[in-house]
Amino acid sequence: MNRREFMGVSTAATLLGATDFSPRGKAQESGESKQTANKNPVKAFSRFARLSPGSIAPSGWLLQFAQINADSWILDYARHRDPAVYSEYSRRSKISHPVFNENNETIDFCGYIAYFGSALIHYAQLLPQSKVAQEADPWIQSVLASQDPDGYLGGFAPEARWQHWLEVWALALVLDALLYRYEATGDRSLLKASERAVQVVMKAWREPPPKFTPATFSGEGIFLVGTACKLYAFTGKESYLSFARDVLKRCGKTQAYLRGGDAVVHEHAVIASDDVPAPATLYEYTGDRELLKASEAGWQMMQPYLSVDGTPQGNEMIFNIGSRANGEHCGAVNWIAANQILTRMTAEVKYADAIERAIFNGYPAAKSPDGKMVAYMHSPNQLVATEWSAPHDNDGDLDWWASRQHFSSAHEPLCCNSDGPRGIPFYVESMLLRSEDGLAVACYGPCNVSTTLPQIGRVTLQMDTAYPFEDEVRVKVDPERPAPFALKFRIPGWCVAAIVEVNGVQSQPAPKPGTFLTLQRRWEPGDRITLVFQNQVRLIWRRRPEFHIRVQCAAVERGPLVFALPVQEEWRSFVAPAHGPGQDIKSCRLFPKEGVVWNYALIIDRDHPERDLRLRKLPVPEDAQPWGPHPPVGLEVKARRVLNWQMEGDPQQPKTPGFPFNPMKLADEIEAVTLVPFGATRLRMAFLPIIPA
Ligand SMILES: [Zn+2]
Repeated sequence: MNRREFMGVSTAATLLGATDFSPRGKAQESGESKQTANKNPVKAFSRFARLSPGSIAPSGWLLQFAQINADSWILDYARHRDPAVYSEYSRRSKISHPVFNENNETIDFCGYIAYFGSALIHYAQLLPQSKVAQEADPWIQSVLASQDPDGYLGGFAPEARWQHWLEVWALALVLDALLYRYEATGDRSLLKASERAVQVVMKAWREPPPKFTPATFSGEGIFLVGTACKLYAFTGKESYLSFARDVLKRCGKTQAYLRGGDAVVHEHAVIASDDVPAPATLYEYTGDRELLKASEAGWQMMQPYLSVDGTPQGNEMIFNIGSRANGEHCGAVNWIAANQILTRMTAEVKYADAIERAIFNGYPAAKSPDGKMVAYMHSPNQLVATEWSAPHDNDGDLDWWASRQHFSSAHEPLCCNSDGPRGIPFYVESMLLRSEDGLAVACYGPCNVSTTLPQIGRVTLQMDTAYPFEDEVRVKVDPERPAPFALKFRIPGWCVAAIVEVNGVQSQPAPKPGTFLTLQRRWEPGDRITLVFQNQVRLIWRRRPEFHIRVQCAAVERGPLVFALPVQEEWRSFVAPAHGPGQDIKSCRLFPKEGVVWNYALIIDRDHPERDLRLRKLPVPEDAQPWGPHPPVGLEVKARRVLNWQMEGDPQQPKTPGFPFNPMKLADEIEAVTLVPFGATRLRMAFLPIIPA
């Protein structure tokens, strides 16, 4: 979020006129219900359902990555109990909007409690034995203790309420955290507190107090639709569903998506990622096909603005695309969350593909390997990461805006630091889902799953793989007794073929990329499934520059991974001129190491790139962090230096250059270079010129 968003100028304009929803569609009932304590489960129209919290335990590199992230930002802020993050709800601001100090830092209520609480509670279930898990209850108690006798939960005094989207958005996420904890523990006091808090909002919605601003429910405030739907699922009370319907109708983008065209350009990239799945969250309990269609159309509108790294581009507004266009770290996380919802609703492979593309490429690239710092903004080609290297907004005043490409443990605003950790639990929760007749493996990676299927009993499942660093996934399934059910496996849209074997016997018919393969059989304890995805290298071309003034460049993709030329970086600590709340704040600017060469043209046959790119296992030191500077795989390729391609800008304040100008002056010498997974780079060149041998 930027300052303009904070002030609520652009979100105020997004209110749509009232529209009629079509009558209930003919969606098939999936026969699923929310796994909750509700005695009378409500009908859900989603094709897949989430497993209960904590059912999926990460292992291998995924466990290591989750632990690093849990132990850094979240644990620090949980232990420091920083009032600007931990307990924003324990005081009441008399001002309805954030205020800035002379240094342009936000003071007073900023809603940081929202992402922090959501991250803390999700990690507590993800890593129940961790230090962070011990911090869940104290935080929840502090939130419950802040609730007013009339049920109000939030950071504002009565005269300052319901005038800024931060209030509604933060409340939606805090309640989401409480309800997730309720799902995990069955503690009904959490459900009760959430119901009381939402009833205060519903009363304000029905009988608006003088300064009540409905637009606060648009933009990220739209999250409250999902919260109200969850309350409906947990309680069966229709009033929550009709409130959700009303808020979406008035503040969502359903009609804008259904009208077609482009309803996301100039929207904030993070907010667009939140808007897209909102109609689908209501579809889950109404079965109204138009709502699902709207979300699907919104998703399609986002496609031109996705970076090659799978995350939304936006500076912060969706506008610029290309090799030097920024993407906000929050955009990566919220785009993963959007695709998590759409995967569940539709059972379509493309949404789960989108989760993997984002989590394995753009997401880790914006984190320091120790998980302590993030880059608020990052771009596919990036030779420098500083506050000046790529100014972040598009209102025409580049002299004013900063880049936020530097790495920091507390950016201003703090959104990316607090939102960032959530990407990992969201991905893990997407790996295995319930289907109407069994289980569906939607995303791959090392994990152990334990769940209960109706009439079948306990089923455990072990995914043993280094995916995405290998193409093979080995699954062991253990029902508590032999039982018939379906196991579905996602065959990613990017593989050319896949071989699936059950206990060494190849499955028939052959799996089709872009679909779910269903294996329906009587499963016995110890049954083994092996999946091998056949992935080929592909070139992703940027469009040809006008008049061919510059050289057209391409990025290399293989399976879920995008590969980039790593540019070894030097981390230089500095005191960031503006920062968010916190203690021991660390900030670093990144520059290429002295003498590092990055200006290569790759020698690749553009019609047969597989002939010139060789997949290689790389040596990994014992103590290497996942997505750090020692990735386990790389693509070896021959290259020549482009002599007329240099860093841009003043030597003191360098900037990443655009593509080289035609004609290129190439060095005679042919060198071998190794491209590595994008997510393992902090400085990189993802788009490079491609030349023939
Ligand atoms: Zn952010």
